[in-house]
Amino acid sequence: MPRPIEWQLGTVTGIQTETPTVRSFTLGLPEWLGHRAGQHVDIRLTAEDGYSVERSYSIASEPELAGQLEITVERIPNGEVSPFLHDVVVEGDRLEVRGPIGGYFVWETSLGGPLLLVAGGSGVVPLMAMLRHRARAGATIPTRLLFSSRGPDEIIYRDELDRLAGHGDGLEVAYTLTRQQPPGWTGYSRRIDDRMLDEVLRPLGSGARTYICGPTALVETAANALLRLGLPADRIRTERFGPTGT
Ligand SMILES: Cc1cc2nc3c(=O)[nH]c(=O)nc-3n(C[C@H](O)[C@H](O)[C@H](O)COP(=O)(O)OP(=O)(O)OC[C@H]3O[C@@H](n4cnc5c(N)ncnc54)[C@H](O)[C@@H]3O)c2cc1C
Repeated sequence: MPRPIEWQLGTVTGIQTETPTVRSFTLGLPEWLGHRAGQHVDIRLTAEDGYSVERSYSIASEPELAGQLEITVERIPNGEVSPFLHDVVVEGDRLEVRGPIGGYFVWETSLGGPLLLVAGGSGVVPLMAMLRHRARAGATIPTRLLFSSRGPDEIIYRDELDRLAGHGDGLEVAYTLTRQQPPGWTGYSRRIDDRMLDEVLRPLGSGARTYICGPTALVETAANALLRLGLPADRIRTERFGPTGT
């Protein structure tokens, strides 16, 4: 019998605002044994009366970062856990963490490419771990990220993504803004569809390793479109976060 993964205490060592509704939390974890890009952790909150609640959060940081990890959390109105993390947790607080969890939605440079990443909203988090890992490893594997957000202020990690794409090492990032576009916007302006995926996929070819993450509807739309475009099912990996669409 495999041993269950044990809970450990992580200390919040940094909190960063990513967008008006998204924050990143850096957790110092002295006993952390490492992870692979794409894996997640469980976070457990326990009230004084013993009531406890757990939620999963993808690891945003690259495996190369020792002794700490970063999670990025979207504040869901009326949620139990995400508003607590946003509104109550401060630096120095300790959180119960269990992980790393998941062995299917993972990518590392040894798996190779080309690599197609498709994200909706906070679904970009595990894909960011893959991109950070790719950059740290100095890999030049042809990679494209198609990232759907509602509006320009809601693009998580935008500065870092633009910086990584500017390295000229084979990474390209395409944004689509579904609800609001700034003046002069040159990216896509609609929900992800077959034509958009065809344009983003084409330079990579139909052998691209594909990772899709986000709200269920977006994941299913993108995966079905990519199958129609001729991508073999065994090249497509998906992870679903929540019920709504972007
Ligand atoms: C493998 C995995 C990885 C995940 N990684 C991340 C991550 O990196 N970042 C992140 O922010 N979240 C992530 N999630 C989602 C996260 O686990 C929680 O579901 C989310 O934070 C909501 O929890 P809550 O307690 O605040 O809301 P809850 O109390 O669970 O839900 C409150 C209400 O909001 C609805 N709701 C729940 N989730 C969403 C959603 N995503 N969008 C809109 N409405 C919702 C519920 O149906 C309910 O009506 C991940 C989920 C999984 C399964």
